[in-house]
Amino acid sequence: MDPGDEKAGHFNTLIYMTFKELGLGPTILSAIEASGYTQPTPIQAQAIPEILAGRDIIGSAQTGTGKTAAFALPALHILGGHKKGAPPRCLALGPTRELAAQVQGQFEKYGEQTKLKTTLVHGGVSYGPQRDALEKGADVVVATPGRLLDHVEQGSIDLSSIELLILDEVDRMLDMGFIDDVKRIIKHCRNPKRQTLLFSATVSEDIKRLIARSLKDPVEIAIAIKITPAETVKHEVYPVGAMQKFDLLIALIESMDIDSMIIFCRMKVGADRIARWLSERDYNCAAMHSNLQQKARTKALEQFKSGEIKILVATDIASRGLDIANVTHVINYDVPEHCEDYVHRIGRTGRAQREGDAATILAPDETAKIDAIEKFIDQPIPQRKLEGFNYFHEPQIRDAEQAAPKRRRRNSSTSKFGRRRR
Ligand code: AMP
Repeated sequence: MDPGDEKAGHFNTLIYMTFKELGLGPTILSAIEASGYTQPTPIQAQAIPEILAGRDIIGSAQTGTGKTAAFALPALHILGGHKKGAPPRCLALGPTRELAAQVQGQFEKYGEQTKLKTTLVHGGVSYGPQRDALEKGADVVVATPGRLLDHVEQGSIDLSSIELLILDEVDRMLDMGFIDDVKRIIKHCRNPKRQTLLFSATVSEDIKRLIARSLKDPVEIAIAIKITPAETVKHEVYPVGAMQKFDLLIALIESMDIDSMIIFCRMKVGADRIARWLSERDYNCAAMHSNLQQKARTKALEQFKSGEIKILVATDIASRGLDIANVTHVINYDVPEHCEDYVHRIGRTGRAQREGDAATILAPDETAKIDAIEKFIDQPIPQRKLEGFNYFHEPQIRDAEQAAPKRRRRNSSTSKFGRRRR
């Protein structure tokens, strides 16, 4: 990705700084070079020096901004090398197994020459190999909350030596009901010298309380939350009666020249049902949500990435975080509950300058949600009727003029938390 290219992701601020100037050592610098990164992204340019200076951080930046490297690179620098026989010194917590796996992958990639050992701890797979890996000794543990706590309770991990605690996508962890688990884990990380790095796109009252209890004089870094969808995504809304949603889905799929498609549903049962109905009609597809066994999730993701499966029917678990490239089409079978999720969902396509198409099927009882999304992204979404589709009732297509969302601006210097920025 080109950090200076707005369309390539969320790298919308040019900061002429080199990684070397940020204070990273030669081992990490050579890993950065090997990754092909020529310039730090804004979140990296701002967070890395503060982290290296030992500060606690609150970062509001989304996936796609280079956020993972913003904490992994300085963490690896601080940790230095492998400490034989020592308990873990760095813990990164994330909401989903896939995200944790991605974060661990980046720790391994950037830390290849450091001899630091990293391990991944998440649910849905057996305990034994994780226990063995922890026993052998890991400097960095990347985990999801529930399974990590199981290991803590079973005595297979001791968190009292954690020097660096990274809480990634905290809003998501809280949305998923992990607040108490996260609090308990923080309590176990009782090293008084602990440095805590917290990343969250939004900061609710719960998160504010968590920050007050767990972070010391944090530096707040807010990178412009990209609330507008990538310009390379053509997104449209297709109103239809609730009874015809599935028929319209099929007609839309048939009208598109698909390479790879993600269909988003609000509920897990919905995703299962749509995947089943599509499979019954011989579409090459798989479901992807958090109730599936880890093996099934990994398999579906791999098959989708390799092109073996053309259509993934997913809940919002796949809308954030996952770096799935080359998705040509996104269909929202349901309008998402949270406005941010709309941007995340359609952001699966049109990545890295590729053209992408996103269509949202709109049932009459979802209109208020679309209105809220248009306000959030500060632009109307064109409404369309699918030519050739046999509508039971003429769909209510709203004119572009009728949709004039209230302007809402946020620029890169505005803290989303409404608090002091340093
Ligand atoms: P993330 O926000 O951590 O999900 O990162 C999104 C993507 O950006 C990942 O594929 C990274 O490999 C890539 N990336 C991270 N830092 C840089 C950089 N400085 N220059 C170019 N690409 C980067």
